[in-house]
Amino acid sequence: MVVPPGVSMKFSSVIGNEGVAHVLRRAVDTGRVAPTILFHGRDGVGKKTMAMAFVSYLLCRDRRDGDSCGICSNCRSMDEGRYVDLEILEPDKGVIKIDAVRDAMPRLQYQPVIGPWKVLVIDDAHAMNTEAANAALKSLEEPPAGTLFILITSSPDTLPRTVLSRSFQIPFGPVPTSAIIELLVSARGIEPDVAACAAAMCSGCPGQAFRLLDSQALAERRDFIKAFLSLVDQPDRVRLQFSDGVPVDRDGGDVYRLILESVARDLLAVVSGVSLDDLSNGDMKDELVAFAHKAGPDRVLAIAEAWLDWDAARAYYPAPKNAIDRMVLGMPQR
Ligand SMILES: [Zn+2]
Repeated sequence: MVVPPGVSMKFSSVIGNEGVAHVLRRAVDTGRVAPTILFHGRDGVGKKTMAMAFVSYLLCRDRRDGDSCGICSNCRSMDEGRYVDLEILEPDKGVIKIDAVRDAMPRLQYQPVIGPWKVLVIDDAHAMNTEAANAALKSLEEPPAGTLFILITSSPDTLPRTVLSRSFQIPFGPVPTSAIIELLVSARGIEPDVAACAAAMCSGCPGQAFRLLDSQALAERRDFIKAFLSLVDQPDRVRLQFSDGVPVDRDGGDVYRLILESVARDLLAVVSGVSLDDLSNGDMKDELVAFAHKAGPDRVLAIAEAWLDWDAARAYYPAPKNAIDRMVLGMPQR
């Protein structure tokens, strides 16, 4: 699905991953922009925001202070979604099909209309099916002059090796919790304690903090955690029944996964004997300590591993429900 380019973005409004911004800015300033760049990192860590800041900087006619100006004709056309030399491909119902790639690629063969660059951003590039990836690969192999491909993915391992080997890879790390809290409080006017809770759960991914805040998950967090702690003593049949009730859509499923990951980290902190002052679920410290003591370190480790594995499993199962089933069944029986 080809979507409008969306708004121009400034590096100064991206939080975290300053090193990435530095590398991208320098590539533009020195005229050494790689033809294919792969941004990889967790969902919601800010890859697309950074990509848009980079593209804005590249296309801006009046760069200043290491950032795009936001007001030149190119910046304005991007804001209005009518910059003809910029295309963004996104999954349609979870898949990027060959038709979408075939639509976009021939247009890249023409000379750019406005400036020296034609840019194609493929968001969630891992959602390309095999045919689509092969079609994209043809263009990546021999990029027309002045073409920039930006591939964005949270699962680089699932992309064809040939795509990986042709890309300049840029990894994204977690954004500091303090910066996320500041963003939530200043940009959204969120109460500081709620912002702190969402930031603690989001694994350094501001986009996930926004998802958490837009969902019911934070309100249901304590009940969800209690249900999961008792689920580990249940037989497979009961676990699968529980799994049926966990939301599977990307927004819904993700927020519960994040909560479970935060519990896994908390339990690992409990069994490793570090200070418990910084638990993400500090308000449930007593329950978590009691659970860890009852289960013992080895079992806690195996349970946490199963929970943390949910994220990786999502890339390998066609349906999100399969990944949840695998996770609940992966918790070791007593
Ligand atoms: Zn500009």
